[in-house]
Amino acid sequence: MAATPEFQHTLAKSAGFSGTSLHTGEKVSLKLHPAPADHGIKFKRKDLTDEPTIDAKIENLKMVERATTIGEGSIRVHTVEHVLSALSAMGVDNAIVEMDANEPPIGDGSAKSYVEVIKRAGVTAQETPRKFFHVREPMHVETKTGAMLILLPDDNGFRISCTQAGPNNRFTQFMSTDVAPEIFEREIAPARTFVFYEDVEPLMAKNLIKGGSLENAIVVRGDAVLSKEPLRFPDEFVRHKILDIIGDLALIGCRIRGHLIAVKPGHAANAELARAIAKERSRRESLAIPRVVPKGNGGLDSDEIIQILPHRYPFLMVDRIISFDEGGTKCIGVKSVTINEPFFQGHFPGHPVMPGVMQVEAMAQVASLLLFKLAKTSSRIGYFMSADGVKFRKPVLPGDTIFIHAELTKARGERLAKAKCHCVVNDAIVSEGELMFTFLDK
Ligand SMILES: [Zn+2]
Repeated sequence: MAATPEFQHTLAKSAGFSGTSLHTGEKVSLKLHPAPADHGIKFKRKDLTDEPTIDAKIENLKMVERATTIGEGSIRVHTVEHVLSALSAMGVDNAIVEMDANEPPIGDGSAKSYVEVIKRAGVTAQETPRKFFHVREPMHVETKTGAMLILLPDDNGFRISCTQAGPNNRFTQFMSTDVAPEIFEREIAPARTFVFYEDVEPLMAKNLIKGGSLENAIVVRGDAVLSKEPLRFPDEFVRHKILDIIGDLALIGCRIRGHLIAVKPGHAANAELARAIAKERSRRESLAIPRVVPKGNGGLDSDEIIQILPHRYPFLMVDRIISFDEGGTKCIGVKSVTINEPFFQGHFPGHPVMPGVMQVEAMAQVASLLLFKLAKTSSRIGYFMSADGVKFRKPVLPGDTIFIHAELTKARGERLAKAKCHCVVNDAIVSEGELMFTFLDK
């Protein structure tokens, strides 16, 4: 049986703040709104007619010079990496980032203001499991500018080990950290944007960074560090590089399970790695075969099931048991739902939905089979007595395959037992409940 799934999260409510945009220097207000499961992060241009949205996806990447720009059609959003970094690291999978300009307020050049907004809004769990990219084999990208990113397998979480080095290897710094909300908020989010004077001088001359000032960036000139307030960390630069990596890699639209080794990273290299991950994900998807449902060995086929359960068509609600766990307290059954199910005729004509009570019945039958296996006797059968905390989360439709999970949570004497059950379709929980049984002679 799979481990407890980690669920997607969104914001508990809307929240926002205003500030200056980096490139135009104009006032902009930003609002973060909750969004449904599987929505991902989308930017909304409130200042344009029809308020178009842009998916924060690597396919929409337009520019990686100095900052990350995404766009769809002729619509652009600039400097998305800091707000994306905060959303991703603080555990927000689904949200709308609404703005009345073409870039978010730059704040103090760090991700601090975004973290504050996210915390004010609150983060809440949804009912759909999170999507992950598990690194299976090392991946790597290298750019002409000397950036090198190596992604290694690590199933414990997402970890970044980063080395930052400025021109002539000035300000070489190293940091290795897990990407997790508390660590991000404390160690990464406050790290500000930094620039080397020689890189920004031409931009200032061309008036391309009107909103840029020592209020929102640290400027390094020779060995001197110029900033409004002193460095927040002795190694603030490498921390900001990690902040940018998290934001740029958020464009893959799922969470990474792996360890990233980054040497002199930048937006171009980060984006290239994000593209490589997206390509690998679609390669894996194209190879994915339908879920194989094993027969026999450790499970029960339909013949074995009808020798145990007294239920018959149309009330037999489990086709096969695919596994019993080693301790014998959990099992998974399968039910293929076809349009030929008699209940679809009346539930409802023209709009077939599997009745929730039939799912509860399916959970009860799978739990009975589990109890039977534990009791190792065919003379008695567990009868379904009551159900607690039953929830129907999503409709089950003709063509769906339901994976019915049952786990024995309590067995009192020889007469009573409780089982926690849930039904899964396409990796989403469609119904759940806690069922109580009593044992009677057949
Ligand atoms: Zn940055």
